[in-house]
Amino acid sequence: MEANLDTYVYKLGDVNYINLTNRCTNDCEFCLRRTGDGVAGYDLWLKQEPTAGDIIKQLEKDKTDVVFCGYGEPTIRIDELKEVAAYVKNYGGHTRLNTNGHASAFHGRDIAQELAGLIDEVSISLNEADARKYEAVVHSRYGEDGFRYMLDFARDCVKYGIHTTLSVVDVISPEDIETCRRIAQDVGAHFRVRHYIS
Ligand code: SF4
Repeated sequence: MEANLDTYVYKLGDVNYINLTNRCTNDCEFCLRRTGDGVAGYDLWLKQEPTAGDIIKQLEKDKTDVVFCGYGEPTIRIDELKEVAAYVKNYGGHTRLNTNGHASAFHGRDIAQELAGLIDEVSISLNEADARKYEAVVHSRYGEDGFRYMLDFARDCVKYGIHTTLSVVDVISPEDIETCRRIAQDVGAHFRVRHYIS
């Protein structure tokens, strides 16, 4: 039988990044999946999505902090994400989730509450200053409602004590960046402006 060469865990610096799925509720204009096969030389297209056990087997050899990130929306695989996060918390590692914030909308229940105690830090892509502009770049399966669902999720993460950051990329106008900063303040989240990398 041919060995499965899918990349479930990829290392950037000292941190292991976990690649749970290629599926996503958005289809962002800027998504790396539109133009490439992965990051830093890792091919992140999956022939088969990993089980939690597949990932834990790799982490057993390298018990570092982890980030759940790409090549798709990690919270779509919420059961596997929680199982891996519990394993990492158990050995004392730090857990971060990079997400589009649609988890509760996708699963139809309060996912932020389920992540409390398992995910230390969540970074949510705010992207734009209002629902119309957001939808124009992310093409969410929820249409403009995707913006509200993302902000509700951010509020819930703050409520459950998860260190929560809303982020934008510095391709939007300075006025919109200030609006986004106020939105993050209103939600009670931290705010980060990321530099655009082509
Ligand atoms: S939310 Fe992330 S994975 Fe999904 S389309 Fe946008 S950039 Fe790609």
